[in-house]
Amino acid sequence: MHAMAVSELLTMTGANNAEAPLVAPAVLDNVLISQVVDAVQDGVSISDMQQPDMPLVFVNGAFESITGYKSEDILGKNCRVLQGDDRSQPEIDKLRRAFARGTDCVATLRNYRRDGTLFYNELRVIPVHDTEGALTHYIGIQKDVTSQVRLQQQLLERERKVQRLNAQLELMARCDELTDLINRRTFDDCLDREWRRAARDGAYLTLYMIDIDRFKAVNEKYGHAIGDACLQSVARVLEDNFRRATDFVARYGGEEFVILDAGRDPDQASVYGERLLAAMHACQLPTPEDKLTISIGMSTMQPGPDIAVNDLLTATEAALRAAKDAGRDRMMVAPPADQHNS
Ligand code: GH3
Ligand code: MG
Ligand code: MG
Repeated sequence: MHAMAVSELLTMTGANNAEAPLVAPAVLDNVLISQVVDAVQDGVSISDMQQPDMPLVFVNGAFESITGYKSEDILGKNCRVLQGDDRSQPEIDKLRRAFARGTDCVATLRNYRRDGTLFYNELRVIPVHDTEGALTHYIGIQKDVTSQVRLQQQLLERERKVQRLNAQLELMARCDELTDLINRRTFDDCLDREWRRAARDGAYLTLYMIDIDRFKAVNEKYGHAIGDACLQSVARVLEDNFRRATDFVARYGGEEFVILDAGRDPDQASVYGERLLAAMHACQLPTPEDKLTISIGMSTMQPGPDIAVNDLLTATEAALRAAKDAGRDRMMVAPPADQHNS
């Protein structure tokens, strides 16, 4: 065995302690050295870097047990035999770079035993130089880390699952399960945010409150399941008519919906409200004998120092009540804010 390789081997495998050597290398004979190298639990190999294709010239007993290859099967071959056809591994590039520079390196590789089974090999390679400084050998220390890698993979998979579940939970907390629209809590946040934005930009903000007319009777006549299907149909009509990124359509509770529309002036906003009423008339609903109608309260405001978001809510609610009182299936528009406050 190469003398340099032996002293380095003993240090690498922990069989020798550089600070307080148990046995001075000078008194070790080759038999004793072989016994020490064979006794360590890590696989140990030596590749000859001065022969073509860098063949293995030594493997210990642990290498044989980890890989399933007997030394007579593998000596003379390059260590890449252990990679089988699994050659595109980023960690292999790391090894190649270390070999090219003649430096040491640790890489975890997917390797295959003689019987074809996969194991994860934490491979440490250490260069050995002769007295002239030429690279003569590489020592390889192999650890079978399959169980640790599998555990890490399981933990990673579990972490990804938790992240997916958290994302689902977050979505569920923001959305209404029946209609898939955002819920009231999310809408309240949007309203606050859009109110501040409109105040900054001096823009109009319109709120529509929509309540299905005589919905209790629909449930009584057709049953709750058809009632639910109607709520879903109404939700789609609302969404189809307010599709801009700046439109927010929400289920506010029960058979009540709200829409926040940023940027349209009062006249444009009321055109969109009337279109909604018409779209409801045209819509195919799961109540064949009855046309389902809605009442809408609408209010448009320009946020300013004397006006609060609550004024918009109150004015829109009042307009919705007025629409109901006036006979339903219609939209009532709240008076302009200055008139409303006076
Ligand atoms: P109005 O024209 O005055 O609004 O009459 P209405 O019958 O629609 O109003 P009311 O507030 O008396 O009844 C609302 C009904 O909406 C009562 C309730 O059964 C129904 N409702 C609320 N949430 C749901 C739901 O999730 N599914 C179903 N199927 N019905 C619901
Ligand atoms: Mg209601
Ligand atoms: Mg109603």
